[in-house]
Parts: sequence; C-alpha cells; structure tokens
Amino acid sequence: MKWIKSPWTISLGTAIFSMFLAMIYDYLKKNPFLSTIIEVVKWVSNKIILILNYEIKVWWILCAILAIVIVIVFINLKRGKIIKPDFYNYRKDTLKDWTWTWDWQYDSKSRKWDIINLIVRCPSCDTPMYNIYNGYYFDFKCPRCDYNTKTNNVDIRNDVKIIIKSNIEKKIYKK
Ligand SMILES: [Zn+2]
Repeated sequence: MKWIKSPWTISLGTAIFSMFLAMIYDYLKKNPFLSTIIEVVKWVSNKIILILNYEIKVWWILCAILAIVIVIVFINLKRGKIIKPDFYNYRKDTLKDWTWTWDWQYDSKSRKWDIINLIVRCPSCDTPMYNIYNGYYFDFKCPRCDYNTKTNNVDIRNDVKIIIKSNIEKKIYKK
C-alpha cells in the first residue's frame, strides 16, 4: 500500500476530487431548476429567521387584538341584527269569530317569520284561553271566567295561521 501515500497518488487524487466538485458546481449552475429551488429555500429560511428575530412592539400586538375584537363584534352584530318586517306589530286580529294574539319569531334556517304563541282570547274577559283536546273535541276554556267553547271539533289554529299570513300577503292588516 505504498502507492497511496505516494505524492503522485495524492496530487492525482486531489486533482480528480477538485474536478469532481467543479463538475457538480457547473451542473448546479447550468441546471436552473435545482438552483432555483436552492435560492427559494435560502430566501424562505432567511425570511423565517428575519421574522423570528423581529423586534415586536407591544402596541402592535394590542392593535392586532383590538382589530380582531372589532371584527368579531361587527360580524356578531351583523348576524344578530334582524330587520323587523312591516307586519311585526300585527299581533292581534279577530278571525273566525275569535280574537287571537300571537308573536313573531324569525327562523334563521328557513329565513322566514313564524307565528308562535297563537292564543285565542276569552270574549268575556280577554284572558288567554287554553286548549282542550280529548281526542274528539277541540275546545277553548277561559281560566278566569270558565268560559267554554265548542269549535265543531276542529282545530282551527292552523287555519288561523294561514289566514294571518294571507292577510299579510294581501296587505289587509293593521300595522
Ligand atoms: Zn274569560
């Protein structure tokens, strides 16, 4: 193994090695794709280091938090704000010989206003009457004066809801 240590081998080996390095360098230089990737990686890592080393002022953070809070409040306000329709105060009417009261509730899924708490009022004392349904008869009864009704065994509440909505469509209701 004397030849390894010989100056000929060392100088030849060095020459081949430096030629090999020069070839790689040339190859990378000529190959724009590879060098572009290397440049991009360099650029990104430089930016990351720059960002990580950035001196952050406390008021920047406070401003950012404030901006986020304002945006969240604004979105919630916009979502929660439901424009009341013209018929919103139409909550009482005499339909099918009875006086009815009800409330409006906005259904965000169907984006429609629903009639809720539809109640028939006692003709004697204007007290809300409750429904009696025993499977055969559908009646109203006044808890205050015990006024009792017979409505021909038919639940007319659904009809009343349809009439209310129809009145709104026809614009024949008291605002
Ligand atoms: Zn009554």
